Amino acid sequence: MNFLDLTAQYKSIKGEIDETIKRVLENTVFIGGKEVEEFEKEIARFCDVKYAIGLNSGTDALFLSLKAIGVGPGDEVITTPFTFIATAGVIANCGAKPIFVDINPKTFNIDPSKIEEKITERTKAILPVHLFGQMADMDEIMEIARKHNLFVVEDAAQAIGAEYKGKKAGTIGDLGCFSFFPSKNLGAYGDGGMVVTNSDELAEKIRLLKNHGSSPKEKYLNLIIGTNSRLDALQAAILRVKLKYLSKWSKERAEKASYYNEELKKVGDIVTPIISSDRNHIFHQYTIRSKSRDELQKYLKEKEIPTMIYYPLPLHLQPAFKDLAYKEGDFPEAEKVSKEVLSLPIYPEISQEIQKLIIEEIKNGYFTFYRKA
Ligand SMILES: *Cc1c(COP(=O)(O)O)cnc(C)c1O
Repeated sequence: MNFLDLTAQYKSIKGEIDETIKRVLENTVFIGGKEVEEFEKEIARFCDVKYAIGLNSGTDALFLSLKAIGVGPGDEVITTPFTFIATAGVIANCGAKPIFVDINPKTFNIDPSKIEEKITERTKAILPVHLFGQMADMDEIMEIARKHNLFVVEDAAQAIGAEYKGKKAGTIGDLGCFSFFPSKNLGAYGDGGMVVTNSDELAEKIRLLKNHGSSPKEKYLNLIIGTNSRLDALQAAILRVKLKYLSKWSKERAEKASYYNEELKKVGDIVTPIISSDRNHIFHQYTIRSKSRDELQKYLKEKEIPTMIYYPLPLHLQPAFKDLAYKEGDFPEAEKVSKEVLSLPIYPEISQEIQKLIIEEIKNGYFTFYRKA
């Protein structure tokens, strides 16, 4: 059994994918061109947003978004400590300071009621993460941002297609960032990323930044200092095929999650995923909580059932951020959930037999712990 089985997905669309790859190889347009332009239009339509700009990773989508709103040395950006390292890494890479705010343990997302006390005259932006496929409390976040004149950059790397009050992830803040890392819900066969925005000015800035600040009108005229962060045509073409299936896949993930919920909600002290009002969940990860997490994971490993811990060490305790001088106890909710979370295998093609086996072993595991206790 694999934690994630990407072969099943490839097999289901192999004909279309193989043809697409062949088409790109024969066209020999590998950077930019029609495939990238069409994919950008398709994502913009899918998200119902004015602009979508292809980039070479989700990390660069975040990094160039912060650059585009002018984040630099001396600035502060507010974010969550319970996320993938890239979210806060890009803030530091801009020369700015990540300011962490604790999470709501029910949703794993930033707790908006704790944001305002962290705002200073140096605060430039709020960077919420829509963790595991459920959007953060965007109304509350946007209200705080408007009141204090801050930008909002959404880290929607795990939430493409998720909705909040009918709006797609990435489209409520000033800029939204997606990742097409192969394991994401819309995964490339390599690296890829995207920024979406309704702002003419920010879209133009991102377009400049991703291509060395090169003028779109005159070759070898560079208007600002940028970098090379382009989405390549092969990935764009592959992602165009996959985008057609994304809504179906999200629905299938939600169905698999419901099945886990039904079967696991009464087992031991397991807390199944909690979905807040006004939004859906696209289950990039299916993550339960248990005080016996370590024992349970060990038991499942013995039974050859793969599980993952996202994330075992909150960012404020990472050696990489030791200069920020945070300490244990600073964000108790994030620290507590990092000791309790366990992600189970979930993907659109996972069979009911496999899910049944996982559920059975979880039940057996609890039976064993309780007998010992
Ligand atoms: C995957 C991910 C990223 C980074 O995306 P890459 O494409 O791997 O650079 C950023 N933030 C979160 C929350 C992610 O899950």
